[in-house]
Amino acid sequence: MNDSVQEVACPTCGRTVIWNKTQKWRPFCSERCKLIDLGEWLTEEKRIPGEPAPMPDNPESH
Ligand SMILES: [Zn+2]
Repeated sequence: MNDSVQEVACPTCGRTVIWNKTQKWRPFCSERCKLIDLGEWLTEEKRIPGEPAPMPDNPESH
């Protein structure tokens, strides 16, 4: 009865992904896109202020 194919757009590259049990990386089209998305998320986490970033340019050296 319900044999319609459900499709989603990959959050990373926007490619159409068939949403079914064989698509283990859904909603991503591939493991690569999943890792890219996860990597960007982790990068955002590291941007949380709190620890001073090491600045190679020291203004006191002038
Ligand atoms: Zn993708």
